[in-house]
Amino acid sequence: MEKEEGACCSTHVLLLPFPAQGHMNPLFQFSKRLASKGLKVTLATTTFIAKTMKSHPGSLIVDPISNGFDEGGIAEAGDMNIYLERFEAVGSRTLAELIEKQSHGCPVKCLIYDSHIPWALDVAKKLGTVGASFFTQSCAVDLIYYNASRGLLSTPVQGPTVTIPGLPLLEVNDLPSFVYCALGPYATFFRQFSDFEKADWLLFNSFNKLEVVKWMSKKWRIKTIGPTVPSMYLDKRMEGNTDYGIDIFHLDADACVKWLDTNETSSVVYVSFGTATILGEEQMEEVAWGLKRSNSYFLWVVRESEEKKLPSKFVEETSEKGMVVTCCPQLEVLAHQAVGCFMTHCGWNSTLEALSLGVPMVAMPQGTDQTTNGKFVVDVWEVGLRVRVDEKGIVRREDIELCIKEVMEGEKGKVIKRNVKKWKEMAKEAVDEGGGSDKNIEEFIAGLVCE
Ligand code: UDP
Repeated sequence: MEKEEGACCSTHVLLLPFPAQGHMNPLFQFSKRLASKGLKVTLATTTFIAKTMKSHPGSLIVDPISNGFDEGGIAEAGDMNIYLERFEAVGSRTLAELIEKQSHGCPVKCLIYDSHIPWALDVAKKLGTVGASFFTQSCAVDLIYYNASRGLLSTPVQGPTVTIPGLPLLEVNDLPSFVYCALGPYATFFRQFSDFEKADWLLFNSFNKLEVVKWMSKKWRIKTIGPTVPSMYLDKRMEGNTDYGIDIFHLDADACVKWLDTNETSSVVYVSFGTATILGEEQMEEVAWGLKRSNSYFLWVVRESEEKKLPSKFVEETSEKGMVVTCCPQLEVLAHQAVGCFMTHCGWNSTLEALSLGVPMVAMPQGTDQTTNGKFVVDVWEVGLRVRVDEKGIVRREDIELCIKEVMEGEKGKVIKRNVKKWKEMAKEAVDEGGGSDKNIEEFIAGLVCE
C-alpha cells in the first residue's frame, strides 16, 4: 500500500549502488518504491556520479561520498582492480562519515548496499545499522557465482554440460563468461559472497515465479523485490511522464518517443547492447546490414564511443526506416506500443524490463551474465530467439535478419508473443499490492520498523 510521504525518523534507509548505470537503475527505482511506502530514503553515490546527475523530484535525497576518484570515476583509475581497492579504502571511511552525519538528525536504520560492495556490510555492522545486500543480477546467475566462489564449480569449467542444483541443465557456454573462460576478473563477481550470509537481508531484483527462488530460499533468507520497473510502466505508458530513472545519460526522450509515435503498433525493432558492451567493427557492420535486410523499422542505440564503427552512409541510407541515437529512455521505449521486438545483449536490467513490459526479444549476449540470461530468455521463459554465432565468433547479417523476421512475423514469434504476455502479467502481479515482491517489501519494512 502506498503511504503518505513525510517519513518517520526511525525508518531512514540509505542505499549505496555500485557506480555503474546497470547497478544504479534498479537501486534508484527501489529507492523510489521505498519512499512511496513512507520510508525516508537517502541514495549515496560517488562524488563523480553525483556531479553528472540532474536533481530529483520527490522525497529522495542524493548524498555524494568520495571514493578517491572524484574527477573521472573508473576511467580515472584506469584499472578495475585499482578502482575497487581505493573505493574500499576511501569509501569505507566516507560512507561511515555519511551515516554518522545522518545520526544527528534522522539516524540511518538500514544500509542497503550493492552486493558488489561487500565491505559496506562491515561499515553497517560497526555503526550498528541493519545491513541488506541488494543483488542486481538474476538469482540463477548469482547461484552460479556462489557455486564458483565456494569451489563447488571448478573454474574454468570443462564441458559440455554442467549440473548445478536448482538450475536447468546448462551447457558450458550458457554460464556467465567469467566462469567458463579463465580470463575474467573473478574476484569482483565472487566477492559478493564473501560475507553475504552475515547480511540481515538478501534482496534480489527478480520475482518468485520467474526463477529458482524456491530452491534458494531453502538455503538463504532471500527476498525478491522486483521487477524494479516502476508500476506506471507496468500499467501503461503515462502521458507527460518524464521520470525515466536515473539520468546519467541526460536522455533526450522526446526525439525517440516522437519518432515512435509516427510508427504503427508492434512495427519497430528496438536495438541496444546496454551501457558498456563493446562490439567489434565487423560485428557492428553485420548488425547494421542485418537490420537493413530485416526490412523492419528500427531504433538503434549506438553509444558515442561506438558510432565510428557504423558503416559509412548507413544512417543516411536507412533514414526512412531507422533512427540511430546515442542513448534513449529505455523504459519509455520498451513501454511504447510501436515497439514489437527488442534485440538485446541480455543485460539483467534489459532482460527484466523487456519481459515485464511484454516485449519479445532477439537475444545477442556478449559475455558476463548475459549468456545465462540469454539461455533463460530462449529456453526457460521462451520469450525470444537467440542469434547464432559462427566459427569466427561473429553473428552474421543473415541470421539477424532471420531472427528478427521470425520474432516479428513468424510462427515461433506467435508463441513467443503469447509467452511474454503471460510473463508480463506475472511481473505485474508480483509488484502489485499483495503480490510476492510487494509482500516481501512490506515484510522488509515491517522488520525495520520493529527493530
Ligand atoms: N538504458 C537506458 N538507455 C539506454 C541504454 C540503457 O535507459 O540508452 C538503461 C536500461 O534501461 C537498463 C540499463 O540502462 O536499465 C542497462 O542495464 P543492463 O543490465 O541491461 O545492461 P548493462 O549496461 O549493465 O550491460
